[in-house]
Amino acid sequence: MKLSISGYLRSLRFRIFLIVFLSSAIPALILTKVALIIYEKKQTESDISAVISQAQTLNNQIATTGFMENPDLDYLTAEFTAIGNANGGRIMVINSSLGIVYDTYGVDAGRQILWSDAVRAVNGETVSYFDRKNQCIIVTVPIPSFTRIDNSKSADRNQVVTPDGSAILKSDANGKFSGALMIIRSELYIANNLSFMRDVALEILFILFFVSVLLAIFISDRVVSPVKKTTEGIVKAREDPATESMPELSYTEIRQLIHEFNEYHRKMKEIDASRSEFVSNVSHELKTPLASMKVLADSINSMGDGAPIEIYRDFMKDITHEIDRENSVINDLLSLVRLDRAGVSMNIAPVIMNDMLEHLLKMLKPLAEKSEVDMVLESFRPVTVEADETKLNLALMNLVENGIKYNHSGGFVHVSLNADHRYCYIKVEDSGIGIPADSIDHIFERFYRVDKSHSREIGGTGLGLAITWNVIMLHHGEIKVSSIQGSGTEFDVRLPLKYIEEGTK
Ligand code: ADP
Repeated sequence: MKLSISGYLRSLRFRIFLIVFLSSAIPALILTKVALIIYEKKQTESDISAVISQAQTLNNQIATTGFMENPDLDYLTAEFTAIGNANGGRIMVINSSLGIVYDTYGVDAGRQILWSDAVRAVNGETVSYFDRKNQCIIVTVPIPSFTRIDNSKSADRNQVVTPDGSAILKSDANGKFSGALMIIRSELYIANNLSFMRDVALEILFILFFVSVLLAIFISDRVVSPVKKTTEGIVKAREDPATESMPELSYTEIRQLIHEFNEYHRKMKEIDASRSEFVSNVSHELKTPLASMKVLADSINSMGDGAPIEIYRDFMKDITHEIDRENSVINDLLSLVRLDRAGVSMNIAPVIMNDMLEHLLKMLKPLAEKSEVDMVLESFRPVTVEADETKLNLALMNLVENGIKYNHSGGFVHVSLNADHRYCYIKVEDSGIGIPADSIDHIFERFYRVDKSHSREIGGTGLGLAITWNVIMLHHGEIKVSSIQGSGTEFDVRLPLKYIEEGTK
């Protein structure tokens, strides 16, 4: 079978390929992305804390040197410029009224700053964040406020000495802040690192995708190969039904599939064999009366004109008997074939079993009288069954007729009818010749006869019980037989009172 593109997309091979490929590709992509995000976060966090501690050191210098009042201190401005250049950014000193006292860029000194960061910082809050758009971190730290105190008094914990040692300063008792220091540091190096890392990750991902494609092809091939082999096995079995069963190997599911197919194949072979056997049996059964008739007709022809009329009559009687036999074989075959067809139509209606059995025994009375067999019907209660009356009648007729046919003169056939709330029970018991134990299992087979010649003599076709069995099965019933050779046979039939529709069983 050639596969179209849509066929390939719907194939198990493609699905497995996709699952294997995606299950390695998606985690790889996610991991790469997460690794890059974590790198950026950690790096900016560590840069921010470095800048905050740098800012706090500078703030103490600003506070203790009086830089706010005198922003021309060369050594501090030089330090700001050096740090600004090293950071690739900018430093601004802001006073408590949001005026820019000093700006390393020199452009905004003397102006007001209205950033919320600056407002929050002059009120004592340290504000820091990473500005992804401009690729920089912005840190704004409050500058503490100190008051000059008298040199003679002893210094306490909150006192610091000015860098030149000229005065002692005390931190503002009200916790006021004299301004804020804003440091803007460029983080472009992170973007550069990220882009480098992305390039490397892309190369690794490319190799990984390539490997996972190869792996996906390999795995999908391995998984699908037993399915392919099984399909080939099925095709082989279809083309040559005589092929051996397939070996039950591979995964559990495939093993189960092969097992089920082997069972199916075995059953098909059995059906085929039984069909051939049936056809050969049918030909044989149809040929036998024809052969007898031919012998009889040839004998009549060879007798010549002088033969007495009684002999002619005798021969013609034998021919009629053979025609009757041929006729009953054909009739039984037709009944069996009709019952055998799949979807055989069932004409289900309530059947009063008491009436049906009474009528059946009445029909068989002449045969019973002729064979000197006594027939008794015992009905324990009125029983109504949902059934196909014609078919059921035929099935039970075969049982009672056999009870008469395979009996001794002076014997009996006892038919009893009973029921409970679910089932109807029919028992056909006779005092006849019985069935040998080794034949019991075969009597429901088509054309099976315990004693071929005796059965033929009394007009048996070997199909009666096969028909009965089929009919009981069509009614989802049960039939059992027990027999003692030489003393009699008993058939027990059980039928559900309510007919079980096919599919609800
Ligand atoms: P047949 O048309 O030969 O009677 P059946 O299918 O009705 O075919 O029965 C199959 C064989 O089972 C018979 O040939 C006979 O040997 C045996 N058999 C069936 N019913 C009885 C019975 N009641 N007593 C003894 N043998 C029986």
